[in-house]
Amino acid sequence: MPRRIVILGGGVGGTILANVLARRLTADEAEVTLIDSSGAHVYMPAWLYIPFSDQPVSQRHFERPVRSLLNHRVKLIVGEVTRIDPRQRELTVRHGVNRDDIRGTGGATNATYSYDDLVVATGARLAPQDLTGMCESAGDYHEFYSQRGAFALRQALQSFTGGRIVVAVGGIPYLCPPAPLEFTFLLDEWLRQRRLRSKTEVEYLFPLPRVFPIESVAEVAAPLLEQRGVKSRLFFNADELDGERHVLRSLEGEDASYDLLVLIPPHRGAQVIEASELGDAQGWLATDRHTLAVKGYEHLYALGDATDLPVSKSGSAAHFEAKALAARLVALIRGEEPDPAHASYDGEVMCFLETGEGRATQLVFDYEHPPRPPHPSRYYHMEKQLFNRAYWRIVPQGLV
Ligand SMILES: Cc1cc2nc3c(=O)[nH]c(=O)nc-3n(C[C@H](O)[C@H](O)[C@H](O)COP(=O)(O)OP(=O)(O)OC[C@H]3O[C@@H](n4cnc5c(N)ncnc54)[C@H](O)[C@@H]3O)c2cc1C
Repeated sequence: MPRRIVILGGGVGGTILANVLARRLTADEAEVTLIDSSGAHVYMPAWLYIPFSDQPVSQRHFERPVRSLLNHRVKLIVGEVTRIDPRQRELTVRHGVNRDDIRGTGGATNATYSYDDLVVATGARLAPQDLTGMCESAGDYHEFYSQRGAFALRQALQSFTGGRIVVAVGGIPYLCPPAPLEFTFLLDEWLRQRRLRSKTEVEYLFPLPRVFPIESVAEVAAPLLEQRGVKSRLFFNADELDGERHVLRSLEGEDASYDLLVLIPPHRGAQVIEASELGDAQGWLATDRHTLAVKGYEHLYALGDATDLPVSKSGSAAHFEAKALAARLVALIRGEEPDPAHASYDGEVMCFLETGEGRATQLVFDYEHPPRPPHPSRYYHMEKQLFNRAYWRIVPQGLV
């Protein structure tokens, strides 16, 4: 009997893992199934640029059907997993319709699936309800951490004529730690190009005592913000949004008033983790930092944003984790000892940080080695743009 490997989530981590496993294991060795609630694979890094674009942005830029990115041997189920039972090794899927099996039966509405090994790669979700007033003030704050939010922010910027723009991070951890800084640098450039910079005050609010979670990056970013005339307010833990008065209040009792607020909402793990009582208070899975096994359970693994690992919640981390976990699962299924050189995740992350004016720097690090960002240059900006273009052909397929 082939081993039934089920992967939850067709984002970066889940798709890479499914493809690598399907290529490396034979049909006799494993049956690889991927379950995703939307059936779409989303490339979130492309959202960063939407607010500043005055050209039509094609949907294909940031979203494609997962099926189009999967090896033919991966079975895809489109449906929302509502319950994980790791003791019985069973899943409940709502409105689960196996697109490969639709034969006029109307598809399933609720189904149970069994597995031998389960990998949870369900990412993170925005949780604006975690800040007082955020839901009531919906429409008064902006964000670029969702497709809808990024397009709404673009509209808001297009009618902006000057005033106070506040960029705030609403909680830790949050996806792609460089993104709010990148947004601020690109915003500064955008305002200058439109001759609005002298009429605009830009303030950056961050919950920690420095402008970035990792000190060596904060040391590079803080002077760049200062050079651009962006004021940074640190230790600002957003607590309450008063949309009527246009004020964001912190736990520390400080007020930040704004004309336009870009607030990264707090994040949580997927609903199914909470519903299955598998995660911590924020819904992150306690995950072994090297093997990616979920602590306390057998045959249960996690990768990407769903974990509580002490690395950036980033596509890059999910990518390296998927490669390491694939090597581990292949070895285990073949009854071999996993090779620590390939089958252990050591905290590798590689990402870029746009600094505006056609320049960027690069962050390369792991558990043991903090990043040493090089001086921002056109080279890294070009590399990021090239990566964004090449993404759809090489990354989800697990070819790099
Ligand atoms: C604006 C922005 C810019 C970014 N830029 C970068 C960057 O430059 N570099 C970088 O490395 N990272 C970047 N990131 C972060 C990166 O996109 C994420 O960290 C990455 O997508 C995480 O991958 P993942 O596989 O863990 O989860 P995701 O890609 O979020 O995929 C999770 C999948 O699980 C599915 N799912 C969730 N719940 C269920 C359920 N119950 N049942 C079935 N399916 C479910 C979802 O539909 C989704 O397809 C950025 C993020 C944002 C918001």
